Amino acid sequence: MADYDRNNIFARILRGELPCKKVYEDEHALAFHDINPQAPTHILVVPREHIPSLNQAKDAGTIGRLALVAAEIAKQEGIADSGYRTVINTNREAGQTVFHIHLHLLGGRHMTWPPG
Ligand code: 5GP
Repeated sequence: MADYDRNNIFARILRGELPCKKVYEDEHALAFHDINPQAPTHILVVPREHIPSLNQAKDAGTIGRLALVAAEIAKQEGIADSGYRTVINTNREAGQTVFHIHLHLLGGRHMTWPPG
């Protein structure tokens, strides 16, 4: 999935065509609650840049900022000290379903390893 679909769900959220429960935004990224949370805190950090997956990412700043925004939100949400997990699913075997790159921030419960 190398081509970017401008009508994917996160592109539509970024354009304001679909609602989201926003927790953070700046000129580079938007973060909002996942519609189907897998943990008490489950937030998606989405860059404004149109990148389908990590395979097409080029800019270290764009990708690095996702992690730093997640850490900031983790502090705001009160899970920074207890712990949290950040995940970028890439393509089929990792379970990527939305092809606009995003970072999952999960916390508020004990996480097991290895992941499923
Ligand atoms: P992926 O499986 O691609 O790594 O993650 C996609 C995530 O987007 C899933 O966790 C899914 O629950 C979430 N999601 C899908 N559609 C929507 C939506 O319309 N709104 C929000 N807030 N999350 C969505």
